[in-house]
Amino acid sequence: MSKYWSRLAQNLEPYVPGEQPQDKKYIKLNTNENPYPPSNKVIDAIKLVTDDKLSLYPDPNGSELKEALANYYNLDKDQVFLGNGSDEVLAFSFMAFFDSSESIIFPDITYSFYTVYANIFKINYELVPLNEDFTLPIKELYKKNGGVIFPNPNAPTGNCIPLEDIEKVLIKNINRVVIVDEAYIDFGGDSAVALVDKYPNLLVIQTFSKSRSLAGLRVGYALGNKDLIEGLNRVKNSVNSYTLDRLALKGAIAAINDENYFQETRNKIMDTRKRITSELIKIGFNVIDSKSNFLFINHSSIKAVDIFMKLRERAILVRYFKMPRIDNYLRVTIGNDKEMDIFIREVCKIVYENN
Ligand code: PMP
Repeated sequence: MSKYWSRLAQNLEPYVPGEQPQDKKYIKLNTNENPYPPSNKVIDAIKLVTDDKLSLYPDPNGSELKEALANYYNLDKDQVFLGNGSDEVLAFSFMAFFDSSESIIFPDITYSFYTVYANIFKINYELVPLNEDFTLPIKELYKKNGGVIFPNPNAPTGNCIPLEDIEKVLIKNINRVVIVDEAYIDFGGDSAVALVDKYPNLLVIQTFSKSRSLAGLRVGYALGNKDLIEGLNRVKNSVNSYTLDRLALKGAIAAINDENYFQETRNKIMDTRKRITSELIKIGFNVIDSKSNFLFINHSSIKAVDIFMKLRERAILVRYFKMPRIDNYLRVTIGNDKEMDIFIREVCKIVYENN
């Protein structure tokens, strides 16, 4: 700790992202990236952003991308907010809608950035423990609170809440903001975007990082009532006018306009997920029902940390969380079929070596 740090910096407990090795040695199944490249149309659009354009600032409002998203979701342009990845949209949302007056609530076993944001913005929070089977006890979200946030599908468990339950949470919390973090919604869950016009307290956050293969471009967005979007704009414009660069804006527009490629790659991932789920069950794994691009798994006779280490030795990275309740589970991103064949082959060997 440095004497030059502010008290704020001294007291932070930053989020630690999954390992991002910069060489190509590993089969990377640890940070839920898409195994397929972005659409060719994205690459072409980015190439068209010429040198002279890069000397000029981008559109601070990202109007063209907002319009493309509004058309895609059948909403108005002023119901769309853009950010540098959904992490930034989440951070701005914590600032815009939650404060220290009343505790916000979110699940215990969820995306670990939520506690980090709550801490930096001095927002009190109360955790709602997941049920034994990792489902969310919906009624716990009805209690008095200063706001609600949860991912759907949840991370790192991958399971989903039906829309009717989300609707109940929205009705019970009509005077507070309910944020549904839909980073993984395109892999089989029902999106709450359908409820945006009905509930003024609903903010849905999505990303181009997963189903659109653009984790490297950093584009996230929120959809909601225009009052909520205006609140987000106030916060964003008090921090940074230009959160999305020219390449990101053009690339994201091309991605949203290539529906065929999007459908093709997400369907491939869902098919692979189905196949890998049954292969894992055959060799004794318990697999939580997933509507995301990853599986949350455990094995009754081998410790998760041992499987994690053994896979690592074989150049396969998966995610291990050294945390209460889930330290015997692994989160495995769905890679392409070739990667997953190698994963299954190696995990089979690990299981048989253990017997
Ligand atoms: N929400 C959840 C639940 C996530 O798992 C992630 C990815 N780590 C994000 C949001 C952030 O994704 P990005 O910033 O790449 O949009």
